[in-house]
Amino acid sequence: MPIPVSTSRNGDKPLFTPGPLTTSLSVKQAMMHDLGSRDFEFIDTVRQIRSALLALAVAPEEPYEAILMQGSGTSGLEAVIGSITAPEGKWLMVVNGAYGQRLMQIAERLKIAVVAAKFPEWCPAIVAKVVSELDAHPSVTHIGIVHCETTTGLLNPVQEVGALAAERGKVFMVDAMSSFGAVPIPIGDWNIDYLVSSANKCIEGVPGFSFVLARRAALDQTDGYARSLTLDLRAQWQRLEADGQFRFTPPTHTILAFRQALAELEEEGGVMGRAARYRRNHETLVAGMRELGFVEYLRPEDQGYIITSFRFPDHPNYDFDRFYELLNDRGFVIYPGKVSDAACFRIGTIGRVFAEDIHNLLLAIRDTLLDMEVTL
Ligand SMILES: *Cc1c(COP(=O)(O)O)cnc(C)c1O
Repeated sequence: MPIPVSTSRNGDKPLFTPGPLTTSLSVKQAMMHDLGSRDFEFIDTVRQIRSALLALAVAPEEPYEAILMQGSGTSGLEAVIGSITAPEGKWLMVVNGAYGQRLMQIAERLKIAVVAAKFPEWCPAIVAKVVSELDAHPSVTHIGIVHCETTTGLLNPVQEVGALAAERGKVFMVDAMSSFGAVPIPIGDWNIDYLVSSANKCIEGVPGFSFVLARRAALDQTDGYARSLTLDLRAQWQRLEADGQFRFTPPTHTILAFRQALAELEEEGGVMGRAARYRRNHETLVAGMRELGFVEYLRPEDQGYIITSFRFPDHPNYDFDRFYELLNDRGFVIYPGKVSDAACFRIGTIGRVFAEDIHNLLLAIRDTLLDMEVTL
């Protein structure tokens, strides 16, 4: 069912970014309440959210738990890495972009042993290379990978790496921050022990917390491992189980917005419905950008429909800061690039934006190029 566009923004510019994203007016309005953290309605909302999150990825008979953690998405990753690793544990992180690199950084900062299976930023992880890294480092106990590498928009082969992790008896964590809710992820079939995502990406809530879907049997083996008080995943789970509450002040308004966002996801047809809209956004964008003369950074077969990196046009009059400002003046917000070996900018196609918004963005880009006297 299509959702009306014009009323959704309070006059704000649409965000074509990797997050925070454009949200619906009703999601924003859901925050207009002050609820106490011990209030029955609040506790019940948290309970509903935990079961709705599980329903997005987990078959009813599969033993998984949904745990909400205050903070941004990275806090959720840090909570998992810091809470599930035994003192003698060791990670293998698959790295082909800035977010894979961030997984390395988290482990290093926590003084947890870690090695990388590195790939170029244009290259989805190659499973044979992950196998050889595992062979070279038999003491590895955990594997971490990013699903949609938001640096470029590529999708990593999570299912294949999950099968490998299961075969080798390694604990498997997936950073599904920018894909969960819009790309189907059958968590049990893909052998995922821990999946991490956040409130303000494809579920279209507002920032303030991350969430973890954890296999209960894995979580049960992590007693005493947490290296942080606030980011103690197991303690947070136990408190949510015991009385439905957070251990420390919960982001109550964000949680109310998230309940509304989950209802709107369901109304749109769940993960498949959202996937269809984002895919259409992406296809509209790429067709229009190619027509304007832009070239994508990734090969089409490696590109997901979440966010797309475009190379800077090869023209002396092109300057990204000016391009960004002129687009911003026209009411459109895009995003700088993050690829280290090529000059790129990024356009996200997630959040409460529709093909009609993409058409308007393309018109504004055409206009901006004319203004800058960039001919492609
Ligand atoms: C957005 C994102 C994160 C988390 O970012 P925060 O700024 O901490 O919310 C982590 N990994 C990926 C792949 C992301 O897209």
